[in-house]
This record gives sequence, C-alpha cells and structure tokens, in this order.
Amino acid sequence: MTDLTSLTIAEAREGFASKSFTSLELTDAHLAAIEAARSLNAFVLETPDQARAMARAVDAKIAKGEGGPLAGIPLGIKDLFATKDVRTTACSKILGNFVPPYESTVTSQLWRDGAVMLGKLNNDEFAMGSSNETSCFGPVVNPWRREGSNTTLVPGGSSGGSASAVAALLCMGATATDTGGSIRQPAAFTATVGVKPTYGRCSRWGIVAFASSLDQAGPIARTVRDSAILMRSMAGHDPKDTTSVDIGVPDYEAAIGKSVKGMKIGIPKEYRLDGMPAEIEKLWTEGADWLKAAGAELVEVSLPHTKYALPAYYIVAPAEASSNLARYDGVRYGLRVPGRSIGELYENTRAEGFGDEVRRRVMIGTYVLSAGYYDAYYLRAQKVRTLIKKDFEDCFAKGVNAILTPATPSAAFGIGEKGGADPVEMYLNDIFTVTVNMAGLPGIAVPAGKDAQGLPLGLQLIGRPFDEETLFSLGEVVEQAAGRFTPPRWW
Ligand code: GLN
Repeated sequence: MTDLTSLTIAEAREGFASKSFTSLELTDAHLAAIEAARSLNAFVLETPDQARAMARAVDAKIAKGEGGPLAGIPLGIKDLFATKDVRTTACSKILGNFVPPYESTVTSQLWRDGAVMLGKLNNDEFAMGSSNETSCFGPVVNPWRREGSNTTLVPGGSSGGSASAVAALLCMGATATDTGGSIRQPAAFTATVGVKPTYGRCSRWGIVAFASSLDQAGPIARTVRDSAILMRSMAGHDPKDTTSVDIGVPDYEAAIGKSVKGMKIGIPKEYRLDGMPAEIEKLWTEGADWLKAAGAELVEVSLPHTKYALPAYYIVAPAEASSNLARYDGVRYGLRVPGRSIGELYENTRAEGFGDEVRRRVMIGTYVLSAGYYDAYYLRAQKVRTLIKKDFEDCFAKGVNAILTPATPSAAFGIGEKGGADPVEMYLNDIFTVTVNMAGLPGIAVPAGKDAQGLPLGLQLIGRPFDEETLFSLGEVVEQAAGRFTPPRWW
C-alpha cells in the first residue's frame, strides 16, 4: 500500500470517489511512511491513534456521501498551530509540554472539511530561522541530497518539517507559516509548492505569534492544484482575528488551467543581485520564457526600495517578537524555572527556555524599541516598509498582474554550514521573500528546475492583494513546463 503515499490530494479525492481505497488505508500508508522516515526528524509528535480515529469517522461520512472538500486527506501540522489536547510547542523548550485547550482557526477549518491529522511538524523555534536548525527538537533533514553525496542538507525554514514531510511523501500536504519567507524558502529547497497568502486572508488565531503584522498561514503541497485545494479550506474571515479580512473565499482550484494570455508579468531589475549564481539567473529567464510561451507579456519593473527590505525586516520582526514573547514568563505556560523572587523566576525561565536565536531576536527587538532608539530604528523601518509597499503598488498601478523572481538565492545548503559565525549569512536567504511580507502581498514558490548538483530550485510569483487566483494560474504554467520533482528515497 506504500504507493498510496505518492498520490496527490486531487488523485486521492478521485480514489475515494471510485472507492479504490479508504481514508483509513491512505492514513495507514502515511503512518508507516512516517515511521520509516524518523531519521528525517520532520515530525516532532506523531498522532497515529487520533489519525486512525479521524480516518474511520470520515470514511463513514464518505460512504454516506457527506465527506467535505478535504475528506480523508492525511495532513501534517506545523507545531506553531495550536491543536486541542495535542502538545503544541513552537519547537521551543519554553512551551515545554503545553497542551492547548483550543484549536487554531486554520486547523479547525481543515478538520471541518474532513482532513486527517497525522501529527505535528518540526520548525525553527518560534519560526525564527531559515534552516530549521533552531528547533529545540534538533534539525530537520532534507530528503534531497546532492548527486553522489551523503551530506545532509537543511530543508530550509522555518517550516522545514512541513516541507521535508511533504517532499518525502510522509503527508499529502501540510500547514505552514510565513513571516519573512518561511513557507516559500523551504518549498524551494524541497521541490514543493508553498503559498504565502495575502496578509489577512487566513486567520492567525491559535497560531503561536512571531511578528503579528507579518505572520500568515499557508499550505505546502506537492502540486499547485493541491495547494489551491488546501488554501480554500485554510482561508476565510474569522471574527477572532481582527486582522482577518471579510471577503469571500474563491474556489482557488478553478484558477488552475485558466489562460494567462495577455497578463503582464513584471521582472524587477533590483532582484538581479551581484554575484547571483548563473543557474539562478538561467532558471529565472527560463521561467519568464515559459510564461511568455503561455501568452503573458514580460515587462521590466523597478522596485527601488528592495535593498532596504531585509534590514528593515530585521528591525520590525524582532521588535514585534520581543513584545509577543513577553508572555513566556514561567507563570502561565510551559516551562517554569524557580527563583528567589518573581523577577528571578522570569529571568531563570527565559534564560533556560529560549534558544540562542530567539534570545538574539528578543534583544534586538528590545533595543530598537527602547526610548533612545525607537525613532532611529523602529520608526524608520516602518517608514521604509511603507516605501516598499508603495513600490509594489506603483508597479500594479501600471497594469502588472504579477511579478516573477527567484524564490531563493541558492539551493539547499548543508546542516551547520551557514550562520554559525555571522547570523546575517542565514538572514540573506530571505532576500527575495521578505519584501512580500513587508508589503502584505501573496506569493507562491513553485519548483522550476535543478542546480548543477541535482538540487531543486524554485521560482516565486508575487501577486496583487487578495489575487491568489492569478498566482495559481501562473504557478500551474510553471509547473507544467518544469515538471514535478521527487527525491530518490534513501532514508
Ligand atoms: N527566516 C526569517 C526569520 O528568521 C523568516 C522566518 C519566517 O518566515 N517565519 O525571521
């Protein structure tokens, strides 16, 4: 039954309709695959009993013709999403064995539509990172390897567990979150499709907060169609998140296969970095050619404030993080390290509970928000953010439907290879993705080719606010031209 794991969500849906297999069989095949892939460290908690119970319940519904749009589909859930009665840690020691008494809105919508939960997926601690190496559960291994090499590579981050699990056929799709690239960069590193929706499209309620003005939930899947199917269930207005937007959720899947003829696609000249690897440049040109062949018009555009996006992000995101993480004080959640006074209890708990990268962010954030530096750093970064947003608005005002860029400046790198001496080396991974979060726009990363060492590379499409549909249409053109990529199994 293991080949059931290589089906797409769309294929599994057909399989249920033709009664070729049950959700319980599909779920069991995935549970077996997860067990055989523990060396990838993608799951931090497996929930087989719950998965089988959910599968049995949904099989009964399917039999009565009452299955929802995701009926019987086994998914993995990033450990940043609160799951009722199931341990949720954000992969931080400070949350300890926290078991939420509530379910995040996004996951509750997946269960409402019939999906099955296989377990919780590894991520960078509090989603801070680009390699999944900051997790308190240890790094995730990318199922992709360089040709002829045994070096273990990172799957990207922070949604590294989600990307690795989807690429290695351990789940049919996964939830993920993206504050500065955490859905799109790992998708690009693993040849999966990752969608970062418009800010406000998915509810943030019940997702552990990192930087609230940037955080968005989205899917990672193996095809553009599958990501569209998942998006429809994940998106929607939620009165419990005041930043979620009350506009109808379209049938994203209907955008797949829609003509892109006459669409204007921007190629931003500022994304052509000095020293950019020739293969990334080549991939980008190829992507543009595919869209042109499908009838789109390619135009050069300018996003002049691009170079300030990364520095501004590393002020805004840590500032919000330092505020959001103030709640972890040893009193209300998870870990508590006693002290002689309440102040000492806070200090001991936070010193023991937070990892190095999280501590770095809290310190940077506290610094840029402090009385003497607020105007020089935080306020200025907010102004830069407005300029970045305006760059995109100017571009869209000229009739541009979407923007095509590389997803990452390189393919996956080795575990322990980057950021040890200089954290900026790691931060540079997000050079093409953070602008999208700063501007609140939707973005999709689609697998588009391989580098000279056989590692996957992705392209990114950036859309107008709440126009994810155009991204699905264009993304599918790229997918059709590039083909799909599956890592050879070695684990
Ligand atoms: N790598 C970026 C960071 O560490 C983005 C992470 C994310 O999108 N969650 O902040």
